[in-house]
Amino acid sequence: TAGDRSSMHKDGKDGKDGSKGNVVVSVRVRPDVGAKDSKQEAEWEINNKRALLAYKGREGGEFYYDNVFDTQDNNARVYDAAAKRLVRRVMEGYHGTVFAYGMTGTGKTFSMQGTATNPGVIPLAITDIFSYIRETPHREFLLRVSYLEIYNEKIHDLLAGPITTMNGQPGAQEEIKLREDSKRGVYATPLKEEIVQSPTQLLRVIARGDNARRVAGTQFNARSSRSHAVVQIVVESRERVPGGPNGLKDKRGAITPGGVRVSTLSLIDLAGSEKAAENKERRTEGSHINKSLLTLGTVVARISSDGDKATSDKDKASKDKHLPYRDSKLTRLLQGALSGNSLVSILCTVQIGSSGSIAAASSHTVETLNTLKFASRAKNNIVSHAKKADESLGAGGDAGSRALLDRYRIEIQ
Ligand code: ADP
Ligand code: MG
Repeated sequence: TAGDRSSMHKDGKDGKDGSKGNVVVSVRVRPDVGAKDSKQEAEWEINNKRALLAYKGREGGEFYYDNVFDTQDNNARVYDAAAKRLVRRVMEGYHGTVFAYGMTGTGKTFSMQGTATNPGVIPLAITDIFSYIRETPHREFLLRVSYLEIYNEKIHDLLAGPITTMNGQPGAQEEIKLREDSKRGVYATPLKEEIVQSPTQLLRVIARGDNARRVAGTQFNARSSRSHAVVQIVVESRERVPGGPNGLKDKRGAITPGGVRVSTLSLIDLAGSEKAAENKERRTEGSHINKSLLTLGTVVARISSDGDKATSDKDKASKDKHLPYRDSKLTRLLQGALSGNSLVSILCTVQIGSSGSIAAASSHTVETLNTLKFASRAKNNIVSHAKKADESLGAGGDAGSRALLDRYRIEIQ
């Protein structure tokens, strides 16, 4: 079958309901480090302006996305085009989810974490979050961060100390479960959340999580390619001036601070997508990782027709029931994001040879096409109706949240 010609991104779908830009799908091509073979004819053509990636091979096809980044684009460019707007809107009160999808070695972690000289989406988002706070002096902010890993369909808290002991046995960490309530959606519990007040603190907490992950895997690369790493930054904010636009009066008429708005930014480095395409026999060898990625693929493939036909929220909710979100930890955790409550940016990474050809064996080609097809489906199928969170939490009398803001709000220097 041709490379999903039929499911190419159709521009007309965006914006009908004012949701244009709520779902951004990008493809990033990483340079091949192998020897140059200039004689080989280029099998790929990238047209940056049209966000087009054309594959001329046997299973050829043209793929259109919101962005196609080529080997010249650094992480800052990727962040600006694929994540910046989403991060800013999270600060305004929307939920936002960024995830990196692609086979192992194509640059997911490079894109999300980056290096000291070429910081990735996570550190750039952190810089941006604090810029936004400085630029918004009329509101006060509280930031909480958690960091979890899904490995073999088990959730590990990367901020709760070692996740395995020195001899590789499972540590004493309490089992982490997924729960759901109407206010928070699906969340992991018990999960450690750190309150942070500066970019340095936030970066340090995440580095601690990365370290826990590294220690847990005797073979770090094997583990990291099979596990999903999820950083969640919860943003709470309210008007700084008591009695400001959202100020409230209590029973005695005294002015109290306004309600608290709560939104979440999720930054996800997915497991290598090659695991999702492994054949059945190999899949049974206990790596449930496949289950999460396979289910993600299924949900993204099926979400479309459902979302498009659903006319009311109720209609949509009943359609959502038929999607297998509950079949894996990853899709359960991402359910809110995938079903339209969150702004979404999907960064798909692929590797193409220096001559423009597929570098390795043909299985590599298959993987690359699988990634491109996943990206196309995501582009065509995911619809987001994300709304700004209400300022109701504090107003509803959530004393805990208010007290935390009173105590830990970020002071602008
Ligand atoms: P993944 O997380 O998808 O398995 P990595 O991010 O670890 O892949 O990337 C594999 C290797 O390729 C790393 O050494 C990384 O530094 C390098 N790399 C990935 N993408 C790029 C890129 N766009 N430019 C330069 N080097 C890259
Ligand atoms: Mg990685």
